[in-house]
Amino acid sequence: MKIYNTMSKRKEEFVPLEEGKVKMYVCGPTVYNFIHIGNARPMIVFDTVRRYFEYKNYDVNFVSNFTDVDDKIIKKANEEGVTAEEISKRYIEECKKDMEGMNIQPATKNPLATEEIGGMISMIETLIEKGYAYEKNGTVYYRTRKFAEYGKLSHKNLDDLQSGGRALLVSGEDEKEDSLDFVLWKPKKEGEPAWKSPWGEGRPGWHIECSEMSKKYLGEQIDIHAGGEDLIFPHHENEIAQSEAANGKEFAKYWMHNGFLNIDNHKMSKSLGNFFTVREISEKYDLQVLRFFMLSAHYRSPLNFSAELMEAAKNGLERITTAAENLKFLINNAKMEDMSEDEREKLAGSTVYVENFEKAMDDDFNTADAISAVFEFVKYMNTTTDGASSKEYLQNLFDCLVRLTDVLGIIVDKEDEILAADIEALIEERQAARKAKNFARADEIRDELLAKGIILKDTREGVQWKKA
Ligand code: AMP
Ligand code: ZN
Repeated sequence: MKIYNTMSKRKEEFVPLEEGKVKMYVCGPTVYNFIHIGNARPMIVFDTVRRYFEYKNYDVNFVSNFTDVDDKIIKKANEEGVTAEEISKRYIEECKKDMEGMNIQPATKNPLATEEIGGMISMIETLIEKGYAYEKNGTVYYRTRKFAEYGKLSHKNLDDLQSGGRALLVSGEDEKEDSLDFVLWKPKKEGEPAWKSPWGEGRPGWHIECSEMSKKYLGEQIDIHAGGEDLIFPHHENEIAQSEAANGKEFAKYWMHNGFLNIDNHKMSKSLGNFFTVREISEKYDLQVLRFFMLSAHYRSPLNFSAELMEAAKNGLERITTAAENLKFLINNAKMEDMSEDEREKLAGSTVYVENFEKAMDDDFNTADAISAVFEFVKYMNTTTDGASSKEYLQNLFDCLVRLTDVLGIIVDKEDEILAADIEALIEERQAARKAKNFARADEIRDELLAKGIILKDTREGVQWKKA
């Protein structure tokens, strides 16, 4: 299995740090509004990466944060006259609804920056002790030049960066030792949320959040760190400088970055009026269409969003779901139970599509080619089945289609879809039962779900579920 590593700028064979396990961290959104369809791209792409690892029987520990303290959140809170916490909580909930609509599996853990401040402070203290950071008037800066490998991910040269940043020092506005230094801790401003620290009240810089949350939930070394390509510099470059200086170890083995989503060939922007939230798209399309659209291109390529391309995605998806429905109908009406010799051969002949699917996914998650393999498989299904086919043959084809589309997060088995809604309803009923102190009913629901292979996990952010 090959992964394009931004660090080496080439495809590398994937070798896990620990056999059979993948530790993966994906930088999550800053929650000050509904997520837009650009934010949806890394969510869909890296959920698919995770699903493919799981298909290959890896145990994936998938951590993705919510940045819930930030200038944009504070600005929005001030505009509405509410607390920053109210804004972030509201949009985390809305984001989770959108993610469910896009069939994104719940992360193993969604840490919140505001709940991890203590860990961030300790990491900053370590950096100061080791000489990688210094404090000036309540602000802590990272001493960028001290980290000899700075620039290794973004392939930037420190002196080029320096010439860009020099103006600040000259103007005297800056108290940094060097214009390349970046902020680890900033002092409190009036009306802003703040936490106590050895450097006075304040809040962490954005980059230290991910270094700390990744370490806390996945360990000092992880397999994959991912996000959109705009995060390569400075965010991920700074994360590397912080984590590697503090921990004395290589931070992540593979750095994956998705390309940008543009709209009608323009950068998405509110002022241009070509800006869509996932919620807006969900009013017009099933979000499965959005997911299918995103996966129709290679994740590293820029992707253009347009009404025509969404229509094309809708039609493509329908070809697959219609074939699945037809197959289901044939299964329910089949007269023959067992496969004939001829069908046995046909089934063996269909494995080439699975091989093509895996070959595409093994090649740096080429979902565009993987979808082509699914289309070929669907064609084969349509042409080798009819009312005379045996139940066994039909069921084998159906199960195979479900296995492949499940990697893409595309639901073709409607029964499965109903099940997901049922699970949510049962979880809600269980929460209500607990509130009413009816613990017997709450336990009964947990057991009922467990019998169906659904495991519940109570977390601070609510109840999470996953398939066993
Ligand atoms: P943000 O909330 O801006 O930190 O973004 C959350 C994630 O969405 C990051 O991984 C970004 O790189 C990604 N992202 C933001 N805009 C786009 C876009 N137009 N296309 C693809 N990814 C994006
Ligand atoms: Zn991050």
